[in-house]
Amino acid sequence: MKELLQRNAEWAARHIAENPNYFKRLSEIQRPHYFWIGCSDSRVPANVIAGLEPGEVFVHRNVANLVNPGDLNCLSVLQFAVEALKVQEIIVTGHYGCGGIAAAVDGERHGIIDHWLQPIRDIAAHQAGELENLADERARLDRLCELNVMAQVQRVAETPIVQDAWKRGQPLLVHGLVYGLSDGRLRNLGCTLPRPAE
Ligand SMILES: [Zn+2]
Repeated sequence: MKELLQRNAEWAARHIAENPNYFKRLSEIQRPHYFWIGCSDSRVPANVIAGLEPGEVFVHRNVANLVNPGDLNCLSVLQFAVEALKVQEIIVTGHYGCGGIAAAVDGERHGIIDHWLQPIRDIAAHQAGELENLADERARLDRLCELNVMAQVQRVAETPIVQDAWKRGQPLLVHGLVYGLSDGRLRNLGCTLPRPAE
């Protein structure tokens, strides 16, 4: 804890040296353009990998970046992001090498998390034909990471919160990205909603 507080003090001092109003300005407004739904994995911090400053992205993270219709935590954050903050882009971000995705389909028992990960097993079963044609286990898990992101984009779009925003004519896009742990790059999965004329 001592080291963490020391690092924080250095970080704050660095920002104040660059801009004396840095924290004053941040404390007065929260107007993020983006809402990020990502994995809890410590290697995928939203601000850092997207190169965004505090105040620029509103964040919700859970194991395997899932949007479950019964998850009051996720839905509360989503509603606040859309209706109060009026974010303009929602980004569901998965990552290759996701432990949650692997645990969902490894056939082992892990405890409570097996219930949380059930939607991923459903996606794997639904897309079994495509997944079985891939060369090896690694390729299958990577593709399942992508399919999971696409499914969560669809789920976000289907929530009454997002449907109502679109009905009101509020500008709001939902994107799906996947992050590569080995190269630090975000890839656009091309599943943005709404599509033109939809
Ligand atoms: Zn993960």
